[in-house]
Amino acid sequence: MFTQPHLDLPPLLSASGSVSLPGSKSISNRVLLLAALSEGQTWVHDLLDSDDTQVMLNALEQLGCQLIKKEHSVCITGLGGSLKNTSELTVFLGNAGTAMRPLCAALSLLGANVTLTGVQRMYERPIKDLVQALEQIGARIEYLQEPGFPPLKLQRSTIKISAPIEVRGDVSSQFLTALLLALPLSSQDSDIQIQVLGELISKPYIEITLNLLAQFGVQVKREGWSTFTIAKGSKYTSPGEIHVESDASSASYFIAAGALSAGSEVLKITGLGEHSIQGDIRFVDAARRMGANITMGPNHLEIKANQRQLRGIDLDCNHIPDAAMTLVMMALFAEGPTLLRNIGSWRVKETDRISAMVKECEKLGAQVEEGPDWIRIQPIKATQWQSASIHTYDDHRMAMCFSLAAFNPSARTIRIEDPRCVGKTFPNYFETLFKLVQTQGDVIPVICIDGPTASGKGTLASEVAKRLGFHYLDSGALYRLSAFMATESGIALELTNEKAIVDLVSKLSLRFEGSSIFANGREISQLIRSEVVGMNASRVSAMPLLRGALIDLQRSFKCLPGLVADGRDMASVIFPSSQLKIYLTADALTRAKRRHKQLISMGISANMDSLYADLKARDERDMSRTVAPLKPAADALLMDNSDLSIEQSLEWVLNCWQSKNIA
Ligand code: C5P
Repeated sequence: MFTQPHLDLPPLLSASGSVSLPGSKSISNRVLLLAALSEGQTWVHDLLDSDDTQVMLNALEQLGCQLIKKEHSVCITGLGGSLKNTSELTVFLGNAGTAMRPLCAALSLLGANVTLTGVQRMYERPIKDLVQALEQIGARIEYLQEPGFPPLKLQRSTIKISAPIEVRGDVSSQFLTALLLALPLSSQDSDIQIQVLGELISKPYIEITLNLLAQFGVQVKREGWSTFTIAKGSKYTSPGEIHVESDASSASYFIAAGALSAGSEVLKITGLGEHSIQGDIRFVDAARRMGANITMGPNHLEIKANQRQLRGIDLDCNHIPDAAMTLVMMALFAEGPTLLRNIGSWRVKETDRISAMVKECEKLGAQVEEGPDWIRIQPIKATQWQSASIHTYDDHRMAMCFSLAAFNPSARTIRIEDPRCVGKTFPNYFETLFKLVQTQGDVIPVICIDGPTASGKGTLASEVAKRLGFHYLDSGALYRLSAFMATESGIALELTNEKAIVDLVSKLSLRFEGSSIFANGREISQLIRSEVVGMNASRVSAMPLLRGALIDLQRSFKCLPGLVADGRDMASVIFPSSQLKIYLTADALTRAKRRHKQLISMGISANMDSLYADLKARDERDMSRTVAPLKPAADALLMDNSDLSIEQSLEWVLNCWQSKNIA
């Protein structure tokens, strides 16, 4: 799959408007497993669509659950407490701790012969305490690589529960969650008691587990946070349907973005509010202590901007392990130092988050100290932020946290490496953020690639856009669609009909979705690609009124995080202040050969001689028209790609861009 190496975030000023966030990861994966263990069907609505839920869904399907998917909902037909698929299986669980731990427990109790695998980082995340707890009741689990870590091979065995089951609670609360989710399966004969050893961390996640167990008909009695009792005869009962709340940890980035905003903007988050069952909702209290101005309703949050007034805090973060990372980012903007304590669990998450945070904050110019389970952050002075390329350690939270550094008052650009790692919990994180933010001045980058027909600028520009995660404008398509729609309406493409053509085009309802173009609801992307339409486009593009009428539409493509625009006058007329202007060309014969090859490969018959003649005629018309004639902008870099492959041209452009941006 194509990977985007990095994303450059220009300086951001504020975030405002309204946003609804994707479903909670913790709730999604617990609910999926509970639905799978219940009898009958459960409709799960607003399910998070991410890497971690995908591996869970794949696993459940492999185990014999039937799945029906509909938009943001999935219907699961559960196993009803016994395995449908008893053959030997290998199940891949990526880096999803919320899948590995509970499935290890549940499948041990169900008597599955299964190997649980994942990515390399999963093999560095401890599971020994859970395995030991399961071994107490007769489970047979083999470590396939390092003792104490996945991958694991589970062997069918006889489960016998005669004494309280002991599990450590001070490494990961997911071990206890895994037992709580699995043990009701073995409660036919007697009550089951779980005894937690050591101080239980991340208690709010246990509360989510207990709350969801209750929604599936299983009541667990707890004494303090050390003894949990599952009643004899507990049985999962599907609630029929269940809604997943928006993810409170994901909300923390938007709460922070709202609080870090300059001005008096308001940001509203929906799908989450004061009745949330997620522990990370208490991030709101921590953010308030730092000075964030937040109001909560039953199903929404509202944050008022106040970047200049945040203050450092000293906080035990045991109750908000994930969202507390966001406090580090807020601390960089605050008055006075911040000390976050009791965060030892960060060291065994997607990466060692304490040391990762320290390293990356230092790149921004901060002074940060770490201890075994704490981090102390000194704020960065308003004028002393540094541009930085942030390494994200394949950790979604690192990427999302450091996007907040783009609000820095020194107006520094922040580069996020491997931005797509947000896919673990929030695949559209950056797109969502970009819809809400305003920049510090006119800083949205634009790269213009102009040149004559068949110079390869379309292919090159769209590849550059993909690599940088930028939007893409194929301006030629606008002239093509104008010519196409005018011809279809019977308007001759004469200068005397210019007004009628402008009239027609300005009344069109146009929609651009990736490379698809819709006019009045009808997809015309392919219809406008023919040579005839290209030739007609060159006719209408010489009409001054039409060119003027299309200017605003073209400029509206300039959105965060940036734009690559290709055409004839991108650099000279539409985006004259763009940061990089490239004029691409190749000799006419090379271009005619390329076009010939392209058409043949598309199954369209073509004749070299007439292609060559047409191409020269189009060049001639584009260069000699009175408005925006085709010629390089004064400050454009010229690039003759006659002897270059697409990859070589791409490298050339990316190098030019790189040299204009942060190292
Ligand atoms: O690039 P493409 O071949 O799709 O463009 C079709 C025609 O539209 C070109 O031949 C050119 O005459 C016109 N055009 C233009 N200005 C642009 C883009 C295209 O005049 N910015």
